[in-house]
Amino acid sequence: MIVAKFGGTSVGSAKNIQKVVEIISHKNEKCIVVVSALGGVTNLLIKASELAVKGDQEYVNVLKDIQTKHKDTIDTLFDEEDQENSAAYVMAQMHKLKDTLKGVYLLNDLSEKSLAKIVSVGEILSSYIISEAFRVNGMNCELFDSRLLIKTDSHYSKAGVHYQKTYKNIKDAVKNSDKKVMIMPGFIASDEKNNATTLGRGGSDFTAAIAANAIDAELLEIWTDVSGMFTANPQIVKQAKPIEQITYQEAMELSHFGAKVIYPPTIQPAMDKKIPILIKNTMAPNDRGTLIAEKTPAGKNMVKGISHIEQISLLTLQGNGMVGVPGIAKRLFGALSQQNINVKFITQASSEHSISFAIDDEDAENAKIAVDNAFEYEIFQRKINPVTVESDLAIIALVGDNMKSHQGISGKMFSSLGNNNVNIVAIAQGSTEKNISAVIAKKDAKKALNSLHTTFFENQLKQINLFIVGVGNVGSKLLEQIKQQQSHLLEKLHLEMKVVGLANSKKMIFDEDGIDLDNWKEELHKSKITSNLDEFYNQVINLNLRNSVFVDNTANDVVPSFYEKYLKKSMAVVACNKVASSSDYANYNLLKELSKEYNAPYLFETNVGAGLPIIDNLKNMINSGDEIQEIKAVLSGSLNFIFNNFDAKNSFYDVVKKAGEEGYTEPDPRIDLSGVDVMRKILILVRESGIQMELSDIENESFLPKNSLNAKSVEDFMESLKTEANHFNLLREGAEKNNSKLKFIASFNRGKAKVKLEQIPQEHPFYNLDGKDNIVLFYSNRYADQPLIIKGAGAGSDVTASGIFGDIIRTINK
Ligand code: ADP
Ligand code: ASP
Ligand code: MG
Repeated sequence: MIVAKFGGTSVGSAKNIQKVVEIISHKNEKCIVVVSALGGVTNLLIKASELAVKGDQEYVNVLKDIQTKHKDTIDTLFDEEDQENSAAYVMAQMHKLKDTLKGVYLLNDLSEKSLAKIVSVGEILSSYIISEAFRVNGMNCELFDSRLLIKTDSHYSKAGVHYQKTYKNIKDAVKNSDKKVMIMPGFIASDEKNNATTLGRGGSDFTAAIAANAIDAELLEIWTDVSGMFTANPQIVKQAKPIEQITYQEAMELSHFGAKVIYPPTIQPAMDKKIPILIKNTMAPNDRGTLIAEKTPAGKNMVKGISHIEQISLLTLQGNGMVGVPGIAKRLFGALSQQNINVKFITQASSEHSISFAIDDEDAENAKIAVDNAFEYEIFQRKINPVTVESDLAIIALVGDNMKSHQGISGKMFSSLGNNNVNIVAIAQGSTEKNISAVIAKKDAKKALNSLHTTFFENQLKQINLFIVGVGNVGSKLLEQIKQQQSHLLEKLHLEMKVVGLANSKKMIFDEDGIDLDNWKEELHKSKITSNLDEFYNQVINLNLRNSVFVDNTANDVVPSFYEKYLKKSMAVVACNKVASSSDYANYNLLKELSKEYNAPYLFETNVGAGLPIIDNLKNMINSGDEIQEIKAVLSGSLNFIFNNFDAKNSFYDVVKKAGEEGYTEPDPRIDLSGVDVMRKILILVRESGIQMELSDIENESFLPKNSLNAKSVEDFMESLKTEANHFNLLREGAEKNNSKLKFIASFNRGKAKVKLEQIPQEHPFYNLDGKDNIVLFYSNRYADQPLIIKGAGAGSDVTASGIFGDIIRTINK
């Protein structure tokens, strides 16, 4: 014989009940079918009770909803003539229910006893309707009343089962029945005085396990809405997969720590008789599901699953009066047990100075009162402090039978959490070492589950969640490149890169599943959220996704003031914006320090030489112990482009204009032409060489005439280039006369840095520098005679975007 239990969703609609009929009609052996209330009905019954006891008439409407739900199911499930029995039964039960609730409403009183009576109606109705469905489909079946079979104590909401009596009742009932299918409502039972009791929320699983034990079933099937017990809650971790096989112990631990797919007490009665449990999906009966049994074949994964419980409070009892005093723990947990409070997690400091324990938020108040009372005398004597309560927490647990024989799992767990800025409030390892659990803030639970899942189950699959500000020349190119590379990254590097947040100066958009990069322009345009950097930050923090990277593609000077906040949340910052790295040294240094402290990369490769790997190489030199002596460089692709194209035929004005159009200059060309941009770049190189320097320490001999230097706006400035054409022509002719070319050079030597337009003679390595190329010569202890030369395209949105892309990829190798 087998026992098959169908959960709320499985019987939540006529269509699903048909599936249940189908599944059971294909069974060859005799079976007991245990059913839950139609999906959501138990919650509605509780809601109606709570409204009624508060004196809120709205409970009547909730009752109507319950009635309609059953009536609709019956109407769809049966032909008119077959509807009669069920409809009459539902009406009769609803009448009784209405009377009971009216009593609750009038008396303003809802005892646990009445509540159990009220909620039991869910299963009473569903089991009747399903037995009718079986009957109508020609199946040989009988409906039992579980209240007559399962006997319990009088803890009405979560009653303790009297096993001996119960097992005997079920055995006898089955023996006396000649039917192939026996239906039992789940969840409900009765006490010695025959008052209705319930087995706790989710308790239909338990009913099925009790039945299975009673009849020595060969198999206990739990039919639900997912294809088994997953490596993590599939609603929260999209990558989670069903676990093929798992031991009783593992399943018990996972369910204890929140894997709701099976109600924790369910395992014991099955395990006692070594009855295998198979979790199956009613909606996909051909999926394999999960087999829970005594042993499982050895797999390579030590961690079988990750589970979590939300709405947790951590209570701590501490004080010097606890050290070395026997019996403290006994008194503490005795007080909690007297209040029927379930403790999920315990951790004690090795000094015995404190004990922390985690319980459901809803029990926190009672628990505090109970424990404070139990230790009233010590608290009065100030030997022990009153219990402290931290709420809004979650417990997250890794489970696996073989974890104990493997080192390093907890290290991996905590570094995965730490890297994602998940703060751990408390840690405990079960004495059997089948689980490691940690208490964290509830708001971090989703991120923590996902990070741990990646670490333990997804092999190399990594995820990067991008939050991008700035979609101008460079930003749009970057989005284009990400779009082109997404599938390649996934296939070849097992890297899932998503743009989750995107903002320009006007609007912003967010999509946790990744913004559609074919349509980002339209999406941004039609977005209703006005751009606001504080709001952007708040959204990033609320989404709380692991491996989040903030990307600044702007030249704006307010955006960088947010880097600090992102880094402090352990988020990587990638910037092509130079403002922060060339701001005050104190600020630059702060960001570098925060990056180290929070293990959050702060990368700005594109600040110098666009996509050329200049800063990265420099960092490698310094990290490996080299020291920079001298730097000489052409660092402005824009100025190089301008002076390379400036000749007798093309006026200075025309060339600057063209450079702007091609995206080779900053949006404000004065930043390039005044030399400030180059000053910033050499400053960054000097700082990255480990030397403290300010922008004001750099000498700048400008080649611009006064008129241009004093221009108040970009338009005025461009105009001045026209009127001062002669000044620029003279500079050019001077160089031509000496067979030289004009190059804007940045240099650093003997602790001093300067930028200057110079005439470069033919034999110099800079002479033949093409178009918008950059070149840097590093002279160091290792490169004393022959400098390290890095040369290549140093401007343009394409190469800059690919430099940013490179930094983004670097963030995952932190
Ligand atoms: P039923 O009504 O069939 O008893 P439940 O809602 O009680 O179903 O349990 C199934 C649900 O458990 C799933 O829909 C899923 O959201 C949740 N769940 C939580 N953790 C897990 C897990 N590790 N594996 C599978 N499901 C899980
Ligand atoms: N109907 C009950 C509940 O919702 C029991 C169950 O579904 O297992 O808690
Ligand atoms: Mg359930």
